Amino acid sequence: MTEYEHSAVESKWGRRWKEARVFESNPDGRGKFFLTVPYPYASGALHVGHARSYTLGDVTARFQRMLGKNVLFPMASHITGTPILAISTKIQQKNPKALASNKEYVGFYVKDEKKVEEIVNSFTEPQNVANFYANAIIQDFESMGYSIDWRRFFTTGDKEYNAFIRWQYHHLKERGYLVKGKHPVFYCPREDNPVTTDDIESGDEYTVEMAQFNLLKEPFQDGYLVAATLRPETIFGVVNVWVNPDKEYVKAKVDGEFWYVAPQFVEKYKSQQHEVEIIERLKGKDLIEKKVRIPLAERDVPILPAPFVDVNIATGVVNSVPAHAPYDYVAGEEIKAKYPQYDLKPITLIRTSGYQENPAKDLIEKEGIKSQADVEKLEKVTADLYRDEFYRGITNKNCGEFANMKVQEAKEAVTDELKAKKLLATMYENGIKDKQGKPVIEPHCRCGSPIIIKVLPDQWFLDYGNRGWKDDAKSLLENMRIEPDSYRRGFEHTISWLHEWPCTRNRGLGTRLPFDERWVIESLSDSTIYMAYYTFVHKIRNKVPAEKLSVALFNHIFLGLGDTKKISHETGLTEHAIKELRDEFTYWYPMDERRTATAHISNHLTFMIFHHAALFPANLWPKQISLNEMLIAEGRKMSKSLGNVIPIRHGVERLGADTMRMYLVYAADPATTLDWRESQVDNARKRIKQFYDIATEIATKPKEAGEENELDLWMLNRVDEAAYYSRSALEEGNVRKAVQVAFYDMLSNYNWYVRRSGNHPGTLRHFAETWVKLMTPLTPFLCEELWETLGKTPFVSNEKYPEGKQADPEVDAGENMVKLLLEDVQKILEVTKVAPKKIHLYVAPDWKRKAYALIKEGKTMKEAMADPEIRPHGKDAAKIMQSRKEELPQTIYSKEKETSILNGAKEFIGREFNAEVTVHTDASHDPQGKAKYALPMRPGVYVEA
Ligand SMILES: [Zn+2]
Repeated sequence: MTEYEHSAVESKWGRRWKEARVFESNPDGRGKFFLTVPYPYASGALHVGHARSYTLGDVTARFQRMLGKNVLFPMASHITGTPILAISTKIQQKNPKALASNKEYVGFYVKDEKKVEEIVNSFTEPQNVANFYANAIIQDFESMGYSIDWRRFFTTGDKEYNAFIRWQYHHLKERGYLVKGKHPVFYCPREDNPVTTDDIESGDEYTVEMAQFNLLKEPFQDGYLVAATLRPETIFGVVNVWVNPDKEYVKAKVDGEFWYVAPQFVEKYKSQQHEVEIIERLKGKDLIEKKVRIPLAERDVPILPAPFVDVNIATGVVNSVPAHAPYDYVAGEEIKAKYPQYDLKPITLIRTSGYQENPAKDLIEKEGIKSQADVEKLEKVTADLYRDEFYRGITNKNCGEFANMKVQEAKEAVTDELKAKKLLATMYENGIKDKQGKPVIEPHCRCGSPIIIKVLPDQWFLDYGNRGWKDDAKSLLENMRIEPDSYRRGFEHTISWLHEWPCTRNRGLGTRLPFDERWVIESLSDSTIYMAYYTFVHKIRNKVPAEKLSVALFNHIFLGLGDTKKISHETGLTEHAIKELRDEFTYWYPMDERRTATAHISNHLTFMIFHHAALFPANLWPKQISLNEMLIAEGRKMSKSLGNVIPIRHGVERLGADTMRMYLVYAADPATTLDWRESQVDNARKRIKQFYDIATEIATKPKEAGEENELDLWMLNRVDEAAYYSRSALEEGNVRKAVQVAFYDMLSNYNWYVRRSGNHPGTLRHFAETWVKLMTPLTPFLCEELWETLGKTPFVSNEKYPEGKQADPEVDAGENMVKLLLEDVQKILEVTKVAPKKIHLYVAPDWKRKAYALIKEGKTMKEAMADPEIRPHGKDAAKIMQSRKEELPQTIYSKEKETSILNGAKEFIGREFNAEVTVHTDASHDPQGKAKYALPMRPGVYVEA
């Protein structure tokens, strides 16, 4: 066999597809399928982790095409925001790390070192960075065989794209979804810009949420000791206040008042639009045993030491409510002996069904919590109690005018009252949690700077908290298929949780906000409906000056509004051309499927849902989102620092795209993490080679064909079945199963057929041609090559995917019998340990077939024994009649047919065991009495040594 030269074959077919424009799609009379995968960010080389989603997407695109649909699979490049600017700046500064990593990336695509140097030097210009990497993405995707219509490629920096985004924001503002206001945002002080999930270091692994604390101003000396709480309604149960005795505190002037707080609070509160100035520094321990007044409850309580108080959270001062806060109860118990002079007895202020007089104590004893060190259990009971009291609790009569209220109502009423008395303020605090739900104390921006929370007075927000918008988003989600559906809850959660989203930045590449040009729309906010833009981008680019791409034109394309004559006059486009744009959009939209990784659920994908719901009528809403988990390598997350990142470029050069594709879709189900293992990848490479060898070998066989025998019928039957199941697996989106059937089942069918000496040229050709078609969505390059080798006209990419049908059990039964017989003989040889000279096979007599038939009919033993054919066989018959229906072979041949099949397989069995095989239809030669063991479809066996 010749070696399989993947790189020669892959570049040949890549070229031919391009020359023949196989994947350029235009509206026509066929049914369509519009699939998208997120456009990648053009700031470096893509790796095999990216390739997982894209490959799954391409398999779908190719399969749908082979179902006869008109498939559009487009691609673009995202350049919005600051990452590309940051590369440029670092190259300008001759930053050694940036120079090295960009030289490495560029070196993947350009072999000449001098040229590499030149290109990296040109990166001082941001546009050159974007252009180079956008082009690298095209090369990567072409090399992977993705069936993309490249005419529609664009970048988010293109002037035409900017015009499209301006249309989008014009409408969002009109709908009231784009608002300007004062809202807290996560913020990078170094870059002087808001940050969102994508900008936060490891942000894609965190739940990025903000917490809102109530600050209770508790009269103290010349001002207030300010305690932070999430449960202001528990103010009536406060028995003391905690501060950390080992830390520093300050007296600060806050908006004109004196506050006693931790110093860490000062900078944070300043960024939230407050005037704060430190007046005096104090030690925590100096505050201990001083008295503070609890508002509303109007009681004086002592300040007590608590080393567990974290001064990095809010004010570093907390109230102790031992009856309802398990932490406080445990701490109070630990300290009470030391302060006998104070009454630290818990005050129960809420009653909740299912709880005793002192709920915190109750839970602590039930869970066996011994000390403050039992953090995990304490967290759990705290959350449980909070939830139960919030939803079911009623306030006690010790809550004054707030007695006998539901806790939810009391919370609001107490908050309002304290606000009215100017004794309550609010602050925002980082509520970012990791995958285990643990708070991330000091989140960092990707630039290295710690993140703060800042209230911006003059910022643009997308108001995802808007009730009407949320409802529309929910209804879009309800009408959309999520694959696998287990991810639906993640979308539901994100939709209900999302609120104001800061959507602009003061610098970066992208689109300027139409009505406030100081601002650039950030990258998660300019990538929500661009799928619609793919449908006609190639028909506006270079045909209309970008500045003439007006709101009116897009209104017409997307919504069918306005007068085409007028728009024609304004844009210079002919009325016919305008109609074509509208036709392209309405032909391709709605989008049939969007495929990507699950990390995008909490932002990008949910934004896509919101924006489609806002801008398009329900009949144009996306129909399906398909999801897959991420990829790791050799058990570890791929990262630059570990040096285990595998660029697509390297993979393709070393392994070939087909091997990578087959591995990426077969190594794991989409809903599980794929662990890239070199040993397994190599196995995939060997399978590809085997496929090549077998199909090439078949292609050399003569084309004329003789009579088909039983074995051929079996083979054709198996081929039909594989096609049937491979097709239905792909229809269900179960690509892994499709590989199992289309590749592995077909391979084992072939191996059996050859082992059985099958060599019918017609059967083999049919097998090979079907095999190639079934594999085309998975390994398209090799399949095109084999298709040509088999003498067919290009392109198999455009052939119909075989329909197949479920196997005929009648046809399968013969080969199943032979396989079982091989196993039986093998077992006998293992037990007897003899070298066989002759193998005698005894075919079961007709009465046993009759007995099986009666069992299948559900006849009882008694009824069967009454049968004149069965009765004479007495005990033997009774034994057979004990078999249960389910144990019998599905298909039972007549004695003649079974005999004929065994005679046909005689030579094969003889060859397998190096013995002479005789088939007996009676017991005339049966020296060992084996004939009586013969059952229908399972002959008796006697091995003669
Ligand atoms: Zn930063």
